[in-house]
Amino acid sequence: MKTQKLAAHEVEAAAAMLRRGGLLGIPTETVYGLGANGLDPQAVAAIFQAKGRPQDNPLILHIPSADWLERFCQDIPPAAWTLAERFWPGPLTMILTRKPLVPDVVTAGLDTVGMRCPAHPLCRAVIAAAGVPVAAPSGNTSGRPSPTNAADMLEDMEGKIDGILDGGPCSVGVESTIVDLTVQPPRLLRPGGVTLEELRDALGEVAVDPAVQRLMGAGEQPRAPGMKYRHYAPKAPVTVVKGDPARCAAYIAAHLGPEDGVVCFDEFAGDYPGHTVEALGPAADKAAQARNVFDALRAFDATPVPAIWAQCPDEAGLGLAVANRLNKAAGFHIIDLEGEP
Ligand code: AMP
Ligand code: MG
Repeated sequence: MKTQKLAAHEVEAAAAMLRRGGLLGIPTETVYGLGANGLDPQAVAAIFQAKGRPQDNPLILHIPSADWLERFCQDIPPAAWTLAERFWPGPLTMILTRKPLVPDVVTAGLDTVGMRCPAHPLCRAVIAAAGVPVAAPSGNTSGRPSPTNAADMLEDMEGKIDGILDGGPCSVGVESTIVDLTVQPPRLLRPGGVTLEELRDALGEVAVDPAVQRLMGAGEQPRAPGMKYRHYAPKAPVTVVKGDPARCAAYIAAHLGPEDGVVCFDEFAGDYPGHTVEALGPAADKAAQARNVFDALRAFDATPVPAIWAQCPDEAGLGLAVANRLNKAAGFHIIDLEGEP
């Protein structure tokens, strides 16, 4: 199949592609998504095919405004309206009880559905023009880092999707925060563009799923099947070094092999002469780190580095999301220098 590249003014053509049951690369403020008509089981099944995504990993349903929620969800708790009011349109996905019209293939058979209203105006315009909710995961091949611009998505999906709408680079750069509102207290399943602190400010108590900060054990059941999969991984193995930035930088310099690559804060980019270095952004700028993290990981796949060492921010604010993506890319292979003398 030839993948048609659509410019920002071609919203109608993009919407028509969705209505016809096609696959559309769609810009959002978080990452590029691989969208299809969320009420068309065949179109949704094609998403799993194009990505090589396991069938038991559910998708998110994207809507242009909060007033679409009641079409697809039931027993909506007051907390959902509180969050929609505060954070929509924006990088927040709420897990709610689905109505029967949401196809099984979208939810991987769960009786819940992930709902999001994206902030990217082009994204909302396409969904509104299509007149259907858009089911979409991130637009990468399963297991790879998520794409944060149209070119990165085409690298994975050229020839496998009908079209891609170019909405420029993503402003957030990591996927949406996922919060499960079908349990009490609400539970953070994936950290993202809306921070845990912001959620707690809005809702009070919010639990954090253990899968956010560590690898699930073989006998453990994650809240959602998709949380067990290896994620965001470049080809070379990644080791995360966490703790004080200067100490971590020195640790990496002392331990890296002659051909190894490094992901580090801008301040330390000059510390590894002769190595492939991807700068994550200033140590104090977590928003920049979120925008850069997937691009940095992806860049190594064009190089022969046998191993990658990564600096990692602390977990306050957006740092939780950046650290989660790096830790998952590393399969939670983490060297913790915190608390060491
Ligand atoms: P992606 O953004 O590519 O990671 O794909 C959508 C994410 O939403 C996956 O991590 C899913 O596991 C998660 N998700 C979607 N629907 C549900 C649900 N009903 N319950 C829990 N997680 C969900
Ligand atoms: Mg994904």
